[in-house]
Amino acid sequence: MTQRRLLVTSALPYANGHIHIGHLVEYLQTDIWVRFQKLRGHDCRYMCADDTHGTAIMIRARQEGRSEAELIAQMQAAHEQDFADFQIQFDNYGSTHSPENKSLCAEIWQAIRQAGLVKEKDVEQLFDAEVGAFLADRFVRGTCPKCGAADQPGDNCSVCGHHYSPVELVDPKSTLSGTTPEIRTAKHLFIELEQLHDFLSQWTQSGQHLQPEIANYLQGHFLGEPLRDWDISRPAPYFGFEIPDSQGNYWYVWFDAPIGYMASTKQWCDRQGENFDDWWKSADCEIHHFIGKDITYFHTLFWPGMLKTADYSLPTKIHVHGFLTVDGEKMSKSKGTFVNARTYLNHLDPSYLRYFYASKLTARVDDLDLSLEEFVTKVNSDLVGKVVNLASRSAKFVAQTGLSAEYPDDGGLFEQAAAAGDEIADAYEACDYNRAMRQIMALADRANRYVEENRPWELRKDPQQAERLQAVCSVTLNLFRQLAIYLAPVLPRLAAQTGELLGTPLTHWKQSQQPLVGTPVAKFKHLLRRVEAKDVQAMINESKAPGEAASATASPTPLEAEPLAEECTFDDFQKVDLRVARIIAAEQVPDARKLLKLQLSLGGDVTRQVFAGIKAAYQPEDLVGRLVVCAANLAPRKMKFGVSEGMVVASGPGGKEIFLLSPDEGAQPGQRVH
Ligand SMILES: [Zn+2]
Repeated sequence: MTQRRLLVTSALPYANGHIHIGHLVEYLQTDIWVRFQKLRGHDCRYMCADDTHGTAIMIRARQEGRSEAELIAQMQAAHEQDFADFQIQFDNYGSTHSPENKSLCAEIWQAIRQAGLVKEKDVEQLFDAEVGAFLADRFVRGTCPKCGAADQPGDNCSVCGHHYSPVELVDPKSTLSGTTPEIRTAKHLFIELEQLHDFLSQWTQSGQHLQPEIANYLQGHFLGEPLRDWDISRPAPYFGFEIPDSQGNYWYVWFDAPIGYMASTKQWCDRQGENFDDWWKSADCEIHHFIGKDITYFHTLFWPGMLKTADYSLPTKIHVHGFLTVDGEKMSKSKGTFVNARTYLNHLDPSYLRYFYASKLTARVDDLDLSLEEFVTKVNSDLVGKVVNLASRSAKFVAQTGLSAEYPDDGGLFEQAAAAGDEIADAYEACDYNRAMRQIMALADRANRYVEENRPWELRKDPQQAERLQAVCSVTLNLFRQLAIYLAPVLPRLAAQTGELLGTPLTHWKQSQQPLVGTPVAKFKHLLRRVEAKDVQAMINESKAPGEAASATASPTPLEAEPLAEECTFDDFQKVDLRVARIIAAEQVPDARKLLKLQLSLGGDVTRQVFAGIKAAYQPEDLVGRLVVCAANLAPRKMKFGVSEGMVVASGPGGKEIFLLSPDEGAQPGQRVH
C-alpha cells in the first residue's frame, strides 16, 4: 500500500457558544476518518481552529463588558477541553484571530485583487446609533414588506417565505437596543464570482469532489444562472482584520474563516519543521473538508474560487453531512434535547456517542437521528453484549497461562474475519461507517457463537480440560482483539485497553491479519460499563434546567441525610442472608406508584418474586439479565399486589435517585455475599 498524504479539516466552531451534540456529529465523523487513515499507515493530519470574528462576537464582548480577545480565549479553552474529552484528536488547533491567518488573508486578498475580481459598491445597511454598530441580519426584526407579518427576522419572512434585505423591513427594530435603526450607506467590496463561473461549473460537476446530491443542488440553485457578487467587507466597527488596501473596512468573517484551515496548518508546519507548500500547494497531498450542509455554499463555490485564484491546491473532496435530530425532532432547549458536550460528559461515557454516531453515519447527506431509547439498546447490545463481553468471558481464565503458543484450530473464524478487513476498510474510506459497523458486528456475532458453543466457564471447572480452556480463550481473545482493531478509529480507548490487556499496543490495521500467540495476558480490568437509561434521563434533565445541578451542592451529604446506624455484632450481620441474583423478568405493576415486579433467579430453578420500589429510577427492560444483590431470607410479606419474597439491595434517597448494587463480572447467581 502506498502511503498517502492527507490534510483533513472540520468546520471551525464559532467562538460565540459551546460545543453541543449536534456539532459533535461532524467532529466525531472527521476524527474517526482521520484515526482510520492513521491506523492504515498514511500521513494524515487533522487541522481545526476557533472561528472568532464578526459582529456577534463584538456585541457579546460588549454586553459582557470585556475584550473580544478575552472572550475568544476563554471559549477556545472550553472548546478544546470538550474535544479532548470526546477523544477528538487534532494535530493542530488554532484560531482565526492569529498572525498566521492575518498574513495568509492578505496574500490571498492580493491575488484576488490582481486577478481583477474585486469591485466596490455602495450598500445601504441598518445602523444602530445607540449601540454604534451596523446590524447583521439577525440583529434586526420588523414587519414583512410582502405579507405584513409582524416581528420577522432581517433576511426572510417565516410566514410567507419572502426573501428581502433588512432595509426593506417595515418598522425595523434593533434587537440589541430596541431602537429604530437608521439607514446608512457605506462602501463595500465585492468579489465578482461570476468571472469564475466556468471553472466552478467544471469543478463542482466533475463527479470527483462532491457527493452527487450536493453537485445537483449547486447546479439547480446557483450555477444555472449568473453567480451573484459576494459582499466581502464590513465597515468599522467590526471585530476582524482590517483590509490592508481599504482603510476602515474589514474582511467579512466568511472570508477569513476557511483561510483558518491554512493558518492552522501553518502553525503546525512551523512547529514541526514541515514545509507549508507540501500541504497546500502539492499535487501529492489530498485535502479533505468535512462540513455540515448549511455551509455548502461557502465551501463549494467561494472557497474553491479563492484557492484557485491564489494558486493553492483545490479540495480533493468535500464531505457534507446532515443535521442531528433527537427522537425525530430538532434539538430543543425546552425538551432538554439541546445537550452541550459538557453536559453529556457529566453523565455518560464518550465512547457511547462515538459508537452510536458511527453506527448511523453514511456517505449521504441525510440527517442523523439520535433516538435516546435506541442509543441505550444499541450501545448495550453491541458494545457491551457483543464486543466487550468476549474479553470479560475469557481473559481471566488465561491470566495465569497466557495465550497458547500456537494459534489453535478455530474452524477458520480468525481467517474469515481477517479477510473481511478490506471490505471494512473500504466502508471507512467511503465514510460509510454504518456499513463498517454492521460488518464488524456480524463478525462479533460469530465470535460470540464460538464462545457459547465452547463454554470456557465450564471448561475451567475440569482440570483435565486446562489445555482446551487455554485454546478456547486464546481464540476468543484473538477474535476480540481483531474487532478492537477494526473498531479502533471509533473506540480509541477500547483499543488502548486491549493493547494493555494483551501486552502489545494496537497501532496498525494490519495487526488484524495475524493472531497473537504465546503472550501473557494481564489482569482483566473492566472495559466498558452498560449505559443506564437513568443516566440519559439525568442528562436530559440537566439540559432542561442548567443551574439546578449547581444548587444541589447546598443540600446535605448522603451521610448527613442518613447518619450511621447503631453498632451491631457480626452475628447480627450474619442473620441477613444476602445472595447474588439474576433478574430474569421485570414488569410494571398497574396502579402501583413506585413498584416494579421482579423475578429473581438464585441459580438452578430457585426463584424469588420481589416487589421493589424502583419504578421511577429503572425501566423494566433495562433490568432483565443484570445481577443484583438480594436479601433472600426475609420473611415473605403480603402486599396489595402480591407476595414479596425478599428485597433487592440499593442506595439513594428514592424517586429517580435509586442505585441498585451490582456484583462484579464473574459472580454467579446464588453466591452468598459475606
Ligand atoms: Zn411575509
